[in-house]
Amino acid sequence: MQARDFVKMLSPERDSNVRPKRSVGYSNAFWENASTVTFSFMDDVSDELAYRIEMAMRQWEPFVSLAFELVENGKGQIRIALGGTANYSAIGTNALRMAAQEPTMAIGLDPASPYFEATVIHEFGHALGFHHAHLHSDANIQWNKPAVYAFYNKEVNWDEEEVDLNLFGIESGSTVLQGEYDRHSIMHYAIPGFLTLNNAWFAFNTKLSDGDKRFARKVYPAIDYRADPI
Ligand SMILES: [Zn+2]
Repeated sequence: MQARDFVKMLSPERDSNVRPKRSVGYSNAFWENASTVTFSFMDDVSDELAYRIEMAMRQWEPFVSLAFELVENGKGQIRIALGGTANYSAIGTNALRMAAQEPTMAIGLDPASPYFEATVIHEFGHALGFHHAHLHSDANIQWNKPAVYAFYNKEVNWDEEEVDLNLFGIESGSTVLQGEYDRHSIMHYAIPGFLTLNNAWFAFNTKLSDGDKRFARKVYPAIDYRADPI
């Protein structure tokens, strides 16, 4: 069973002219480079589980010029809820626009799952501002769209708009920074062959790929402190 996740959408705007799901941050939602990003757990979590999650998210750390700092319960910029039914995250600094008592990330997957670490790494990719790799304009996945809508509706009860948002494309008018397309990215979904017209399939990626590392470094470049004026 693959650990499907989704990009957390912000709460609907009051203005009825604004379509709520337009407010998702496809555009630049990156944290300020070289800043400290705090994270916390919403609930009591065992030391062992907290450690596993922290170790997984910190796999990004060598490739970004951010510092991740664990703070006390529920006070982080990234707020992690465990034990629900869904896996999701806000994209990057969209987390700052969510209600303070709300989680910005959920890891619903059973920690005993062999996909647990990979799912945590993936969700932290979203938290760093990265979107799904299969949305890349060079991915050219020949989706069998009716099959995809039916599959996700049956499996995870998504409507067509949620499928569009997570699988099919970046909305027009968004500004997106893209690295090279990378089918091995941790941000790429596993895709079974019956969801594509040419029976192309994509494995479940469990590790940061070289492409992930390069892209993270591009977004959060290393600071050369020696170049700073004293
Ligand atoms: Zn995702």
